[in-house]
Amino acid sequence: SIGFFNGEFIDIYKAVIPIEERGHQFGDGIYEVIKIIDSKPILLDEHLIRLENSASSILLELPYTIIEIKGIIMEGIHQSGLKNAEVYVQITRGVSPRNHLFPDVSASFTMTVKPSKEIPAQYYLQGISTITLRDERWANCHVKSLNLLPNVMAKQIAANSGSFEAIQVRDGKVTEGSSTNVFAVNNGIIYTTPLTSNILPGITRQAILQAAKYTQMKYLEENFTPEFLKEADEAFLTSTSVDILPIRSVDGKLIGNGNPGRITLELHQAFQRLYVTREVN
Ligand code: PLP
Repeated sequence: SIGFFNGEFIDIYKAVIPIEERGHQFGDGIYEVIKIIDSKPILLDEHLIRLENSASSILLELPYTIIEIKGIIMEGIHQSGLKNAEVYVQITRGVSPRNHLFPDVSASFTMTVKPSKEIPAQYYLQGISTITLRDERWANCHVKSLNLLPNVMAKQIAANSGSFEAIQVRDGKVTEGSSTNVFAVNNGIIYTTPLTSNILPGITRQAILQAAKYTQMKYLEENFTPEFLKEADEAFLTSTSVDILPIRSVDGKLIGNGNPGRITLELHQAFQRLYVTREVN
């Protein structure tokens, strides 16, 4: 593992963040998580475009160009010595005496490159259980902001009830998981929540929709209720960390017969071929 702060590669466990760092004091910043497989970042350009969008949404000027950030990421992967890894990039409004007003300093750029979190094979073979929960987040969930307290609370409530993920519900409609996007499959049609400020535009979500198009599956970006999700033939979660994770149950209700569905498995294979092993172009 390796860290990067203030323009230098550092020992990840020796990094010292100044007390008056705005990420630390206000959560005043944004981030990205990028998966590395066989030393290659997956969907890197898409992640960097989202990073630019998040930055402009909070009126934050990036301290480096996108080309420079790419260079830092590639150098970080090299220096970490890891072939399979997760890159975490965080940009905050910098170090300055605590004051809500924007400081007149350059943004801080922090990065870690660490081994990917192991997801138990059983999760993919049997699916994971989920609960539904009221979405308590703010009105700009399309920004990948450092302010993750509601997401942290939701994930912990799910874990405390023996579930992997909390599926959040706003105004009677499913928004997204605490760190994943949500899909339902009914009568052969794939449904996922449309892109509004209520959800993060997941990079994996978009890649899965591309995979659906590629394999000529029908999909709709439409809102659906928790009841629709529970009655679906199949359901799954997507994120950079998990790719596609089949949902076994929602609030104790089995999805289909509980086992991963055919369309879920086909999409996972198509995603792997298109974006990971790149057997097709
Ligand atoms: N939704 C939320 C709230 C997230 O935090 C994440 C990722 O961590 C996702 C969705 C999935 O996004 P991506 O596929 O870009 O990792």
